[in-house]
Amino acid sequence: MDSAMTTGMHHHLIAGKDVASPASFESRNPSRQDDLVGVFPEATLDQVRLACDVARSAYAGWRTTPAPIRGQIIGQIGRAIEREQEPLSRLMSREMGKTLKEARGDVQEAIDTCHFFQSEGRRLYGQTVPSEMRNKELMTYRRPLGVVGVITAGNFPVAVPSWKLIPALLTGNTIVWKPSEDAPTTAYALARLFEEGGLPDGVLNVVFGGGAGAAGEFLVEMLDEHRLDKIAFTGSTAVGRHIGAIAGRNLTHPTLELGGKNPMIVMRDADLDNAVVGALWAAFGTAGQRCTSLGNLILDEPIAAVFQERFLAAVATIKIGDPGRFDDVLYGPFINERFYHAWHAHYDWGRADGATLAYGRGRITAENRPTGYRGDPNSGLYGWPTVWTNVRPGMRIFQTETFGPTVNLVTVDGIDEAIAVANSVDYGLSSAIYTQNRLWAFTFKENIQAGMSSINNSTTGAEAHMPFGGIKGSGNGTRESGIWVLDHYTYWHGVNDELSGKLQLAQMDTEYGQMRAPYRVAPLADPR
Ligand code: NAD
Repeated sequence: MDSAMTTGMHHHLIAGKDVASPASFESRNPSRQDDLVGVFPEATLDQVRLACDVARSAYAGWRTTPAPIRGQIIGQIGRAIEREQEPLSRLMSREMGKTLKEARGDVQEAIDTCHFFQSEGRRLYGQTVPSEMRNKELMTYRRPLGVVGVITAGNFPVAVPSWKLIPALLTGNTIVWKPSEDAPTTAYALARLFEEGGLPDGVLNVVFGGGAGAAGEFLVEMLDEHRLDKIAFTGSTAVGRHIGAIAGRNLTHPTLELGGKNPMIVMRDADLDNAVVGALWAAFGTAGQRCTSLGNLILDEPIAAVFQERFLAAVATIKIGDPGRFDDVLYGPFINERFYHAWHAHYDWGRADGATLAYGRGRITAENRPTGYRGDPNSGLYGWPTVWTNVRPGMRIFQTETFGPTVNLVTVDGIDEAIAVANSVDYGLSSAIYTQNRLWAFTFKENIQAGMSSINNSTTGAEAHMPFGGIKGSGNGTRESGIWVLDHYTYWHGVNDELSGKLQLAQMDTEYGQMRAPYRVAPLADPR
């Protein structure tokens, strides 16, 4: 990857050309504010409109490109990403502050998604269906939707866009993508690798800019102008609801992948060492800035005290710092100032709720730092790992996504109360249980309100061929990844082919079989 490409002024990518805007914004390394990663144009309404019109023009050619050829191009994109995995991961880590290990995983998810969808181009099956009449054939086809608007969050700058872009392209749609303003340089590099893979000009267009009152909102407005056939969004629940309403009034089905407040249950028979490790990773990895981060840790009463003691001891050992300088940190800085302020506000709620602050002291500074902090904390916004105890359902800190390094400990008595407490939030994205009891694991699996569940593993993590998504406030039931995502970028087209040479009417001309004379089973004589 050309490193010059990742610094300085960038452009929108519209119709395969670089397009500039009058206004711009900067992307800076959240670990070191003096490190300018890239400068990006702020798209105007007219530029977003242009991008949609370009995507519309490219649609006819892309839609009719044979699906196996579209799949082959997806494979080539995967190979280009694979070749650039290391510099792309390093760029991501620098631009949004996740550790290099996690950034590599983020990029690997895109590679895996390409591998999966490359061969889906050779399937993309429809069905042949028997007709109720003679000399007539019925069949179904998947058809693309048209022009898809994609808006993504910055905490998974490669994996999350790939979950949308790759299946949407494979199925024959063209795209206008508005990446997160938190990781535009990573998005730009990813888009260039898509281009390298062989996409014709105009099939994938990228416009940069902010959300409300800017490029993101302009793109959503394109639904009302009938320039988009679908919008696919990953981000906060509040914005998702707003987008869902606009999509609804245009009778389109949006993909909405939203926030979470994910529970993990630790039962009395759990392997506690394993559960401590899982909880630590789930709560504090990426500084809690994952949709699948652990929010409420639900402890079965007999092990609550001992688990809490071991967990707090483990929290005190967490290493934090600039992932660009230290390989062994568990987490780095807040991705942006907005996330830091939103997270910090929960300290007031927790106190007002009457919960007990067992660990954590807000922002890490030179004067206020945990022993595991490395480097200069004033160069970015870093949060203390924070643990609340004596938390109950209904408390604001129990209900609200903090999107930072905070976890609540809630004590319950037995599996039924554990599941009831886990379900008493408005979200339903991910969930986990630690237990050796197969019936408890089964009871959890049957009753938990979540799109994804882990048994004896963390709340986080995804594989490219499993459905990803939530219920309740976490989304509208659409799914990313695997075969399930295909339904969200295609519609089913049913075709009937009349071969008889005459008008045959279903139901009316159907030769239904007639019942014959009734056969009655003779009752047996009573043996007594
Ligand atoms: P956000 O909703 O503020 O922003 C997400 C994207 O939407 C950005 O590109 C932003 O520019 C754009 N945007 C913001 N306001 C908009 C508007 N009014 N109209 C159109 N676009 C707009 O989200 P965020 O706070 O940056 O991201 C964190 C949230 O995303 C968390 O709630 C997290 O749980 C969620 N998330 C969910 C998933 C998932 O798959 N379910 C994955 C990652 C993040």
